[in-house]
Amino acid sequence: MTPPSEQVLTFQQASARVDAYISQFREGYFPPLLMLARLTEEVGEVARVVAHMNGKTPKPGEDVGDLELELADLLFVMVCMANERGLSLERGFERMMEKVETRDAERWTRKEAGSGTPGGGAERE
Ligand SMILES: [Mg+2]
Repeated sequence: MTPPSEQVLTFQQASARVDAYISQFREGYFPPLLMLARLTEEVGEVARVVAHMNGKTPKPGEDVGDLELELADLLFVMVCMANERGLSLERGFERMMEKVETRDAERWTRKEAGSGTPGGGAERE
């Protein structure tokens, strides 16, 4: 797996880049219900890749898929939704993290110091 770039992309930069892209076109952002349909479609595509990665055989001619790309597709639609409504994903993310870091602070079993992988995720290639 390619190591992540050293370059940092902020939510604000992602929002501005998506807005610059969408603003080139007369159609602009999709209306809210169509955007919700696109969001749902992308969630389904994430689900398909995860299913393929966990034992479901792809259809003939279909590959396993690219989870990283599908998550990015989902993120693109989320950024579009936030931009169209004038919302800040950064502020929303901070509010969400504050919520889980306080409400769920004692919810899960803490690791012993120095054990496990950062973030609790599976070892990656
Ligand atoms: Mg997709």
